[in-house]
Amino acid sequence: MPVMASGDFSIHREGCEEFDDGMPISSLPDEVTSIDDLDCTCWSEFASLEEI
Ligand SMILES: [Zn+2]
Repeated sequence: MPVMASGDFSIHREGCEEFDDGMPISSLPDEVTSIDDLDCTCWSEFASLEEI
């Protein structure tokens, strides 16, 4: 399940260590339209949004 960091609202995978505190979200925000919109390296193993 994706997690939205409470600090900068960036989206991470559950278990990512790049944020201190966050809120689990059931789906990615509408603003995220491609894997490139997910900046953190915790998404790097995914080639496209369809794989998440
Ligand atoms: Zn991350």
